[in-house]
Amino acid sequence: MLWKWFIRSKKNVLIYLMITIIPTITISHALALQKVQEIENHYMYITENYAQLHARHIDRFIGETVSRIDMLATLIEINPDDLSNVEEILKRTRDKDIRFSGFYWSNPEGDILIGTNELANPINIADREYFQKAIETGEYTISPAHIGRVTGRFIITIATPVLNNGEMSGVLLSSLRIDKIEESVIKHSDDEKVSVIDDTGQSILDTGFNLARDGTYNYTVEIDKVPWRIEAQIETTEGNLYAKAFFTNVGILFIFTHILFMLIQYSLLKRQIKIEKKQNELQKIELVENLAASTAHEIRNPLTGIKGLVQLLSEKYNDEKDQLYFNVIQQEVNRINTIVSELLLLGKPTAHKLNTYCAKEIIKEIEPIIHSEANLKSVDLSIQFAYDRLPISCVKDHLKQVLLNLIKNALDAVNENGGQVRICLEKKGTNCVIKVADNGIGMPEDVLNRVFDPFFTTKETGTGLGLVVCKRIVESYGGKIKIDSTIDKGTDVEIILPLVLDKN
Ligand code: ADP
Ligand code: MG
Repeated sequence: MLWKWFIRSKKNVLIYLMITIIPTITISHALALQKVQEIENHYMYITENYAQLHARHIDRFIGETVSRIDMLATLIEINPDDLSNVEEILKRTRDKDIRFSGFYWSNPEGDILIGTNELANPINIADREYFQKAIETGEYTISPAHIGRVTGRFIITIATPVLNNGEMSGVLLSSLRIDKIEESVIKHSDDEKVSVIDDTGQSILDTGFNLARDGTYNYTVEIDKVPWRIEAQIETTEGNLYAKAFFTNVGILFIFTHILFMLIQYSLLKRQIKIEKKQNELQKIELVENLAASTAHEIRNPLTGIKGLVQLLSEKYNDEKDQLYFNVIQQEVNRINTIVSELLLLGKPTAHKLNTYCAKEIIKEIEPIIHSEANLKSVDLSIQFAYDRLPISCVKDHLKQVLLNLIKNALDAVNENGGQVRICLEKKGTNCVIKVADNGIGMPEDVLNRVFDPFFTTKETGTGLGLVVCKRIVESYGGKIKIDSTIDKGTDVEIILPLVLDKN
């Protein structure tokens, strides 16, 4: 049923798109982008950590090697003429770490004099650039990766010149095995791939580096002690991150927005039903009211006839018992008459011609009647007139009826002794307010809620039509009626009518 109602109008389709599809897609897209960014940041962070870790590792190794050679250099400096022990010390140092390929001592001319590895032929390294630079600067130098002349291994060499009294006595050389450095890197790796590149762009080691593509993350750091860059790479198997995040969000939001949409539709439907129900009710009331008024009209004429005839009969029959019956008949006829008069007022009030009268005048015209009623019941009744003129547009007799109904209710509600009824007229903004206040019995909540129901009365001889008529008339003039009541304290009834504004 909800669905049928929904597709009936184009507006609903638009609302549907606005509430469900469009927000679902836009929010999912935004959230997916955010999620992808988060995941990528996370992977970049991991990759960076790997790169830093390996860089630190290699840095530390080279640093340690340099300080070892420094120590050896110091040893040689102390006793440059006796090198018999040096070979043994160099061998021991080499055995400390598998990554050491060999340690050598060469004279300033580049001839290797002592080495930890057997020298098949005399070897000279004077042509090596790093060697020349070490001699030139007196500082340690690190070679690019190259094939060593002693072992034929792929190595890098650290050359440390040794000075004696300001004179170059030789160069200490330490070769590091790149294959073992690579092994050590692999040993310290999880899933990441690592490559080391020197300043000439030559790849020194590479543990299976991929070309960058979707799902791989790279990070490069420089190593401090050597002019090398180290690059770490990780690969993810997550597939298309965006699509995954997007469709998960779409799923959740689709359900959520549809629930929201259903709720909105449900409340709209409920409101619509309520409005239709109210309209129906109003139509029904109007029909009944018109029926009542027209029927009342028809009853009135025969009633007048009956009344006259009963009067005649009562004059003819003087018997005491008969008189009692006539009295009862007359009373009942009067009662029917009251009801009929009120029913008559329920008919379309707009059918009458409206004129402008001052509210004060209307009250003045009914003043004698209400005073005499009040006097009959010994009720203290006072009227407070406003200073301003209060022109209102109404049917005079109808408004009189309204005021009489309210005043009658007030007189009914108060005690015979000590009862007070105050009528007050005033101008409030563009309205005329007529208030009828009493200090009578008041009304409980449930009575107050029903006073405008037709035929609702708490009185034995009440018609239950007084307030219905009042409301009907006042509202037909564009006015309002308000009741405020407290049990045992009294009731205030206010009618608010729009003033006729002077044209000039
Ligand atoms: P009726 O006067 O014929 O009972 P109304 O429509 O005039 O019908 O009033 C309906 C009911 O509202 C009354 O029966 C009474 O219970 C209550 N009522 C109206 N005016 C007052 C009032 N001033 N003080 C207390 N109750 C009131
Ligand atoms: Mg009444």
